[in-house]
Amino acid sequence: MRAVLLNKTDDDFSCDVVDLAEDALPDGEVLVAVEYSTLNYKDGLAITDSSPIVRSWPMVPGVDLAGTVLSSSEDGYKVGDRVVLNGWDVGEKHWGGLAERARVQAAWLTRIPEDFSTYEAAAIGTAGYTAMLCVLALEEHGLTPESGPILVTGAAGGVGSVAVSILAGLGYEVVASSGRVDSEGDYLRSLGAASLIDRVELSSEGGRPLAKTRWTGAIDVAGSHTLANVLAATAPHGCVVACGLAQGMDLVTTVAPFILRGVTLVGVDSVHESQERRQTAWSRLATDLDVSQLESMVSEIGLDDVPKSAADIVAGKVRGRIVVDVGR
Ligand code: NDP
Repeated sequence: MRAVLLNKTDDDFSCDVVDLAEDALPDGEVLVAVEYSTLNYKDGLAITDSSPIVRSWPMVPGVDLAGTVLSSSEDGYKVGDRVVLNGWDVGEKHWGGLAERARVQAAWLTRIPEDFSTYEAAAIGTAGYTAMLCVLALEEHGLTPESGPILVTGAAGGVGSVAVSILAGLGYEVVASSGRVDSEGDYLRSLGAASLIDRVELSSEGGRPLAKTRWTGAIDVAGSHTLANVLAATAPHGCVVACGLAQGMDLVTTVAPFILRGVTLVGVDSVHESQERRQTAWSRLATDLDVSQLESMVSEIGLDDVPKSAADIVAGKVRGRIVVDVGR
């Protein structure tokens, strides 16, 4: 089987595409013939060794995989079942999806809804499933399309693109924040964004504790000053869902939005989300995501292209989602 393999010894880091024997795979109940993996921001950090994502060496990266079951010691899965895996620390502690085979725990797998091809399930991947978790959080807060506009930051990235598409499809007025308004403005409008703002409006340090209100809800992938400024401009009793750190992990803010406007800040962690919640998110993706829009969001690469694309995603140069055809 071909695989991307990361290794680290003292200060020496390597990333290679190698041939491995199948028995090199770690223990697990289900052997999966991986058809597609993807590159998420976290994979970019792992593959470029920019952040301590990998906790065990050597490591096959890839937090996502989609494919078919080859064998299973668990009754719940049988040969030929189509499955997707998002998170659960694969590609971090346990060998992940950037290989032609993966051996994993049955509890980490989710059945691919019939509405999606295996390719589409990969194209959605962790980014799309996380976007759906964020939308669920806004709904559970009680927001509806009548509540007011919803901001999506990092809108041209993976989570952002899917979030814009789902929200617009549900009838929300979507404000898309991007650092690439000039080059990706038409793309964001085609996904359903009603208006665009340049992310520099939100990324400065030292913004006011309370600003003029601009949205009722937000999905934020940036963290740091962006998240502080998003909170400050959220309408009374609105809701901000934080899921990322593309600008930074820090968050310097005040309690003003919380105690003077009753704003709620909700966190989303897709990696360890319960199986029940995953099923809910994937079912909702099947009904609420217009899969015809995936085409404009996705670029497809092979295993040999992974190192370069990983650098691109960390540099914020990637539009939408990257699907990796591991057999290519
Ligand atoms: P992408 O790289 O696809 O998208 C990130 C986007 O953020 C970029 O495309 C860019 O969009 C924007 N961005 C980049 N740099 C900055 C910056 N300095 N300030 C503000 N915005 C910036 O990544 P993903 O969509 O895969 O992930 C987005 C974030 O969400 C990451 O931090 C990732 O780790 C996190 N994440 C968290 C999950 C969870 O479970 N909590 C699951 C999945 C992802 P634009 O050019 O449009 O501004």
